[in-house]
Amino acid sequence: MSYEMYEPVIGLEVHVQLQTDSKIFSPDVPTFGATPNSHVDPVSLGHPGTLPVLNETVVEYALRLGLATNCSIAPRSVFARKHYFYPDLPKGYQISQYDTPICYDGYVEVFPEEDAGDEQEPAGSASKRVGLTRIHMEEDAGKSIHQEHGPTRLDFNRCGVPLLEMVTEPDLRTPHEAHLFLRRLRQLVRYLDISDGNMEEGSLRCDANVSVRPRGREQFGTRTELKNMNSMSHVEQALDYEITRQIAVLETGESVEQQTLLWDPNAGTTRPMRSKEEAHDYRYMPDPDLVEVEVDDEMIEDVRADLPELPRARRQRFIDDVGLPPYDARVLTEDRAVADYFETALDQLYKRTKGGDTDAQAKLVSNLVMTEVMRVLNERTIPIDELPVGPERLAQLAFLRVQEKVSSNGAQDVFEIMLDETDKSAGKIADERDLIQVTDPDAVAPVVDAVIDDHPDQVKTYLDGKEGLLGFFIGQVMERFDGSPDPELVREMLREKLEARGDAVEESE
Ligand code: ADP
Ligand code: MG
Repeated sequence: MSYEMYEPVIGLEVHVQLQTDSKIFSPDVPTFGATPNSHVDPVSLGHPGTLPVLNETVVEYALRLGLATNCSIAPRSVFARKHYFYPDLPKGYQISQYDTPICYDGYVEVFPEEDAGDEQEPAGSASKRVGLTRIHMEEDAGKSIHQEHGPTRLDFNRCGVPLLEMVTEPDLRTPHEAHLFLRRLRQLVRYLDISDGNMEEGSLRCDANVSVRPRGREQFGTRTELKNMNSMSHVEQALDYEITRQIAVLETGESVEQQTLLWDPNAGTTRPMRSKEEAHDYRYMPDPDLVEVEVDDEMIEDVRADLPELPRARRQRFIDDVGLPPYDARVLTEDRAVADYFETALDQLYKRTKGGDTDAQAKLVSNLVMTEVMRVLNERTIPIDELPVGPERLAQLAFLRVQEKVSSNGAQDVFEIMLDETDKSAGKIADERDLIQVTDPDAVAPVVDAVIDDHPDQVKTYLDGKEGLLGFFIGQVMERFDGSPDPELVREMLREKLEARGDAVEESE
């Protein structure tokens, strides 16, 4: 019914699985997709008498994320036991943080206008701040593998894998904003090199809390919590569905029940999982086996100094210093590896050109990356470091374009061949395949003359006003030419010579 009369309110709880060499409290190696129960030391299994020892890298990664999201850092924070019974939790409690998270009171900015994907996007578009209540460290639980026929199986490999849990303020107002937030967060954890941020594989997991209220009312409505969305579009779809459901409930005069719901991606609906538990159900208590985590200013400054250039700053630099349009800058900085690739290629090109119109050169490399490179990455679904054409070789190709040795079509052909003939430079390929552009009018003229001579009927039709035929003549010249004539030169020469024919006919008449 009337979506316009209600305003959704959304807050997210996100778990980020960290890429560390060992688990959070033991030397076990975290792995994805390993043989079940092959990485289960006694600490991971919660054997009595074992003691957890904190992995310092987890603290460092928490600080990276906290500083990159403008959080305050707690000088002291405590690990707590969160008790609950579930077969995939052999200890009977999860080690987490409760009243003293390591990071708190931060925010992430999203940019709804830019992310609309408009090529004419504004340079300084409006942003929206999404508040972060907290980020805390905790251990993951194992995995229950439910089988359709037969017993449920348990894989404890994931027990003790380090997680950062991030809780947002209820600041999001649409399912799309929730999607954008997750995209920015995934981008950030990848830039920070703390997680691969892959939702499909569970290294980024999101629960969504949502309620609706009549527009204009300040007080929030009763919320439900949605689980089991393993992609960003699932999060968006599940929220859409749930908002519509809650509005329908309110419209019939009933009230929304506070509960936890599971998203069913096949049915496209949510269904109740359990009524929501309260914090006191977990009997939180400080973990007596672990000391307080102390973070001093020196440590914070060390981590801050090591932070990479963050996506937003890099995008702005691509606009201000590199001279790219805002759209290009955003697309190229979306992924850190792509941005690195672009910058390496551009540096290599600058080394060759030693000056000239550097903005135009940047745009040239940007075009090659955004069209050729990204197309192949999408087609082959590979990361950029597996592309057979590295940034150095892309710079060779860009240099051929700067020197106008190949046409833009020629460059596409050369790139395609470079993917297969990985031991050859762009120049060698262009040479071997006759893709070096011929810009000498004396070489092009005889072929143009011959084509005109051989097509008297088409020449007449052209001269009678059917100028669209020019493309036909260009095609003929390109086909007949032994090599690759500059298309602009061919076009201009054909125009001139055809017109000259016309004048000659008029004179003789
Ligand atoms: P709990 O941990 O008990 O589930 P929290 O207070 O930690 O509850 O909130 C969890 C999430 O729910 C947060 O992201 C918060 O922003 C969000 N949230 C809280 N109240 C509402 C509400 N009325 N509507 C939507 N989201 C809410
Ligand atoms: Mg919570």
